[in-house]
Amino acid sequence: MTITRINLEENEIPTHWYNVVADMPNPPLPPLGPDGKPVGPEQMGVIFPDTVLEQEMSGERWIAIPEEVREAYRIWRPTPLIRAVRLEKALGTPAKIYYKYEGVSPTGSHKPNSAIPQAYLNKIAGIKRLTTETGAGQWGSSLAFAGQMFGIDVRIYMVKISYQQKPFRRSMMQTWGAEVFASPSQMTKTGRDILARDPENQGSLGIAISEAVEEAASRADTKYALGSVLNHVLLHQTVIGLEAKKQLAKVGEYPDMIFAPCGGGSNFAGIAFPFLADKAAGKQVRLVAVEPTSCPTLTRGVYAYDYGDATGFTPLMKMYTLGHDFMPPGIHAGGLRYHGDSPLVSQLFHEKLIEAVAVPQLATFEAGVAFSRAEGIIPAPESCHAVRACMDEAIRCKETGEPKTLLFNLSGHGHFDMASYDRYFAGELEDFDYPSEAVEASLAHLPKVG
Ligand SMILES: *Cc1c(COP(=O)(O)O)cnc(C)c1O
Repeated sequence: MTITRINLEENEIPTHWYNVVADMPNPPLPPLGPDGKPVGPEQMGVIFPDTVLEQEMSGERWIAIPEEVREAYRIWRPTPLIRAVRLEKALGTPAKIYYKYEGVSPTGSHKPNSAIPQAYLNKIAGIKRLTTETGAGQWGSSLAFAGQMFGIDVRIYMVKISYQQKPFRRSMMQTWGAEVFASPSQMTKTGRDILARDPENQGSLGIAISEAVEEAASRADTKYALGSVLNHVLLHQTVIGLEAKKQLAKVGEYPDMIFAPCGGGSNFAGIAFPFLADKAAGKQVRLVAVEPTSCPTLTRGVYAYDYGDATGFTPLMKMYTLGHDFMPPGIHAGGLRYHGDSPLVSQLFHEKLIEAVAVPQLATFEAGVAFSRAEGIIPAPESCHAVRACMDEAIRCKETGEPKTLLFNLSGHGHFDMASYDRYFAGELEDFDYPSEAVEASLAHLPKVG
């Protein structure tokens, strides 16, 4: 009998996070201030505590996971590694398909892997309140859950259009005790100014970031938390890959290829980076970030210094970007609509240590439905991107007869995204190939550096 579900015991939750910086051929490029000079810890200290900044800047290969964090991880970790035998059969592929299922967390995705340690690190730094922004609500709900675990008040600025259209993510945040405001709000100067000019403003992630950062910068007891992109977030997510490696070893396997959806890069880094250390030591393993053709940051963007947000509030980061004023179309994988990408993922892509592929929206839902019908679990629209790319490789294996071992990250379930599936079934979804002229227009606005 083929083993299809590979579990670990609670005491096998990793004791350390893996920091890829220690194994990068070149040191990461620093964030820059408006003057073009590297941003120091003093400036970042306005919105992040020292405990978080220490991890953000660290070059240590292994960073111990605090006992309190491992204790909280036990609520849902270790997560299962599952062999998709039914999908393999449906595809008729000689490839072996494994997936790591992060949808078993209380919020239904990988995001609490970083929300929990961020809440803890703020707590031990004496911080009482956290602010953040959320679009569709996946990060907001994760931080609400984590804040509640560690007795930290959480205030969330939720993009107004999502606040109105996705009431259940908001209810989740409120269940875990967070305050949620539709952004732009009356709570900040940024919000009030925008509403004074444009009372009907529907909000954007850029505006919500500005509101959350403004509030954190204006109060000594309050800091800001970010759900992706930054080094410490990617670090926290490596529990995914570290567990997966142990689970594969239990059945004597090692992957030929690994796939994960890539928005800001955190779940991709989480599953892929622990394998990059082996690659540096000579192992053959291909690491593939999967993005939408409508927001093709790695595959069609440029590698340049750009702002992390739409309004130019954040430091400049060297990353693959489509331009900070790039407006991605309203596709249904909300978590993949970021104009940039994590600086660590970007640098490793630039140095050709990882790969990227873009897939169109309709094909991702088609893959998500096929996966659900074979394996039962309904993937989040973001996760469907990894399902698609992995299925495509499995189909190639069928043509060539290669029995490759494939692994993908099922970053979350789609239970809060069924409206998107409805629209897919109703034939209302379209494919968007972002026009080159639009990308070029945004890229023309990149900030000048040096
Ligand atoms: C947020 C999210 C993503 C994209 O974010 P990354 O930082 O790139 O991981 C992918 N999948 C799910 C389920 C998400 O919630």
